[in-house]
Amino acid sequence: MTEPQPQLRVLADEAAARFAALEADPAHAGHLGRVELSREVLRWAEETFGQELTVASSMGDEVLLELIAQSAPSLDVFFLDTGYHFPETLATRDHYAERLHLRTVLPLLTVAEQDAEFGPRLHDRDPDRCCAMRKVDPLNFAVQGRRAWVTGMRRVDAPTRTDITLVGWDEKRSMVKINPIAAWDDEDVDRFAFEEDVHLNPLREQGYPSIGCAPCTRPVAPGDDPRAGRWAGKNKTECGLHT
Ligand code: SF4
Repeated sequence: MTEPQPQLRVLADEAAARFAALEADPAHAGHLGRVELSREVLRWAEETFGQELTVASSMGDEVLLELIAQSAPSLDVFFLDTGYHFPETLATRDHYAERLHLRTVLPLLTVAEQDAEFGPRLHDRDPDRCCAMRKVDPLNFAVQGRRAWVTGMRRVDAPTRTDITLVGWDEKRSMVKINPIAAWDDEDVDRFAFEEDVHLNPLREQGYPSIGCAPCTRPVAPGDDPRAGRWAGKNKTECGLHT
């Protein structure tokens, strides 16, 4: 049964405190401890919310998808197909669609319809508006009727993400927001990917550590800020899904 929003908020706060304590426990220090805690978060989320839980995947969070396939394969997963993705990202989606309950969510307008209404290359002129129509609105549609959603965000992704918790509260959507791999660093990702033979988006080997829409994503040089290739040259660092 769905809790009224205040009870859901209390549930989120209690879970946040419990998982923060587990994270601080030396038993969960180190790579294997962090991986086990991520699995525990996913199992708790699946048991607590069942069909009222969904997972947002950008297909640049392959380790999260592998964890779900191993630990909570019945979860609903969705991919926002903005119409601007690299073919490699769509192929990655097709790969995981064979192992997960994965749905593709589309914007209201096709790219051609958006071009006709707002002019071509809106992403160059007004990326916030483009992201709002092609990412934020479809995400809000995709999470409708759910009480909780899962993301692949990590604290090391960006300066805007350093304080994310394993379990938190999405104020804007009045939902529980769950970030199972929040604590993973890049070494955790690389090691898990190697040890578990994770299927990776091929763009990773072409200099794309952070993968978004093709017009707004550039490869970066080794050692550079991984997100430097996102909206390069623009005063924008987030698509609006998490802000
Ligand atoms: S990332 Fe770029 S192309 Fe994709 S929705 Fe945002 S502005 Fe548009």
